[in-house]
Order: sequence, then structure tokens, then C-alpha cells
Amino acid sequence: MSNEVNHQVRLAARPQGTPGPEVWEHTTEPVPEPGEGRIVVRVSHISLDPAMRGWMNEGRSYAPPVGIGEVMRALGLGEVVASRNADFAVGDTVTGVLGVQEYVESDGRGLQKVSPTADVPPERYLALLGMTGMTAYFGLFDVGALKEGDTVVVSGAAGAVGSVVGQLAKVKGARVVGIAGGPEKCAWITGELGFDAAIDYRSENVSQRLKELAPEGVDVYFDNVGGDILDAVLGRLAMHARVVICGAISQYNAEGGMTGPKNYMNLLVNRARMEGFLVGDYLPRWGEAGTELAGWLAEGRLRSREDVVDGTVADFPEVFLKLFRGENTGKLVLRLKRA
Ligand code: NDP
Repeated sequence: MSNEVNHQVRLAARPQGTPGPEVWEHTTEPVPEPGEGRIVVRVSHISLDPAMRGWMNEGRSYAPPVGIGEVMRALGLGEVVASRNADFAVGDTVTGVLGVQEYVESDGRGLQKVSPTADVPPERYLALLGMTGMTAYFGLFDVGALKEGDTVVVSGAAGAVGSVVGQLAKVKGARVVGIAGGPEKCAWITGELGFDAAIDYRSENVSQRLKELAPEGVDVYFDNVGGDILDAVLGRLAMHARVVICGAISQYNAEGGMTGPKNYMNLLVNRARMEGFLVGDYLPRWGEAGTELAGWLAEGRLRSREDVVDGTVADFPEVFLKLFRGENTGKLVLRLKRA
């Protein structure tokens, strides 16, 4: 295509605990040319997702692990720069699994065309208008079976998914308590986002605060973090509560295996339900959810915050760790400068 080079980040080893620089390999290749029926996308934005930590592990899961030596799997957004596929034109903006690299050659399957505008920046299609928004929508409405008047608790509340969950619950007339780390995050969710209350799990006793803030119990708990916070909320369930297992970021880097909940017998006592889900299973309904989310966004009933870091693909390993240090507010995205 030119003399340009495609910088890539590959998985070099399976991490034990927090992934350090030794698990990554930085490589270059010539920029690919599209084969017959295929396209080349120049990646402009890489989505940083906690799930990527799970994809680095050996073993059976909902998706095969990233192989050693393979380009790290990542969702992203980019522009079609060469096309031999009638469904895509040069200049189209697409999202999908593009990998931690500057260019990708693809047959186009699994890629969605999107239309950023002056009002809708491209990174929003990786946030509220993308997989993040879909996760909040289907997790809360389908799995959580949210009803007006419910008391909802969400952890990771100032993160990408959690911040949307709390706002969606408010749109539907629920009472919302968010659990997040630090005073700034707590002030943001109760201020700009309109949550009813926040618990700073770093400085407050979560069980004690839940007792004060949810005296009648929790109807829906949307769990992004697992661990001690999951246990604390299980100790405060209302009758017929729904516990939505979206993720367990507190456990993803745990050496020696994950720790499960101790308080699970409260599910029995309260005739409650705990259910996990995968947003990919809802793919046929993403259009329906996207239209509704975009409508609420345009009406000002929802806000989308993207935490955009400018850098190159070489910065990916460090930017990724921000998720586990709680250094992001809203959806963490790496916007690529060319190396
Ligand atoms: P976030 O934007 O929420 O980023 C992660 C946040 O987690 C951090 O900002 C941090 O916030 C919090 N965190 C990190 N470590 C801990 C810890 N030890 N204890 C408590 N909180 C911690 O990420 P996403 O919104 O993208 O993802 C949220 C969850 O949703 C993840 O568990 C992810 O795996 C899951 N997910 C599941 C999907 C599904 O289909 N089931 C799809 C997409 C995401 P703080 O400063 O508050 O600690």
C-alpha cells in the first residue's frame, strides 16, 4: 500500500497476576494489501476492556484464548483505506475486533459501519453507542428485569458499563446507589449522572453504607467487580432480588485463582436469582438497543463519557493497566497517533 509499517502488539507469554511488559511483544509488518473480497482498515481507536485480561489466560471460556505470538485481540474503530469488497467503500468508518495494531486486513464479517458526526465523536461508538452501552442495556433490562421503583446497586459505577447502568435505571424510575473508588468518582455519579447515592468503597464500609442507603434491601445488583463487594451486596438482598453477574474485575489478576462469594445462601433466603450473561448473545437485538440509547442520548437523558488517551500501539500495555488501577472514568479508549 505504501512504505508504511504496521506496528502491532502481540501476546508473548501468559501472565501470572497483573500483566507486566514481559507478556508483550512489539512487532512490525508491512501494511497489508486487501485480498479478493477483502478490505484494509486503518485503526484509529482501540477499546480497552477488562475482558481482554481473560482472553490472555489458557483454558476454556466463552472465547478461545489469544494464542502466544498472536496480535492481541481488541475491539476498535477505524477507517477503510483499501477495499476489494462491494459492501465497504474507502472512507467508511467501521467498528469490530481489529486487534492491537495500526492496520488490519479483513473480509468485513463482524464489522459494523458507523457514522461519527460533529456531535458524536468516533470513540462514542466504543462506549455508550457500542458494546459498553449494549452490556448495560441488556444486563439491566433483560437479565436484571428492572422495574420502576426498584432499588438498584451497581459496582464499577464510574466505569464504562456501570456509569450507563445507573443512568438507565434512573431513566426507568429506579433508585440507584453506585459503588466506586474515590471521592471524585462518587461526586461525578451523584452530580452529573444523577445517581441517588454513592458509596466510596475505598474509604467507607460498604455493608454499613448499604444498610443505611437500602434499608428495604436491594432489588437489582449489577455486579462488575465481584469479590468482597459482591459479598457485601449479597448480604443486603430484598425478596426476589436479581443479581446480574456482568464481570468480576477485582478477581481478574488474582494469583492462585478467583475467590467466590461466601454470602450466596442469601439467594435462598430471599428467593433471589443470580445470573451471568454475555453481551454477544444479544447481537441480533443490538440495533433495537442502539436506537433507544441514541434517542435518550440526544434527549439529554443519558451522558456518555469517554476517557481518551492519546498514544501509539506501543502504549497499549500501560494504558490497559489503568482499568485495574481504577485510573479511568467512563470508557477507556486509546486514540492512535501514528508511530
Ligand atoms: P470500567 O470502565 O468499569 O473499568 C474498570 C473499573 O473497575 C476501574 O475504573 C475501577 O474503578 C474498577 N476496579 C478495578 N479494580 C477493582 C477492584 N479490585 N475492586 C473494585 N473495583 C475495581 O470497565 P468496563 O465498564 O469496561 O467493564 C466493567 C465490567 O463489565 C468488567 O468486569 C467487565 O469484564 C464486564 N463486562 C462484561 C461484559 C459481558 O458481556 N458480560 C461486557 C463488557 C464488560 P474504581 O476506581 O471504582 O475502582
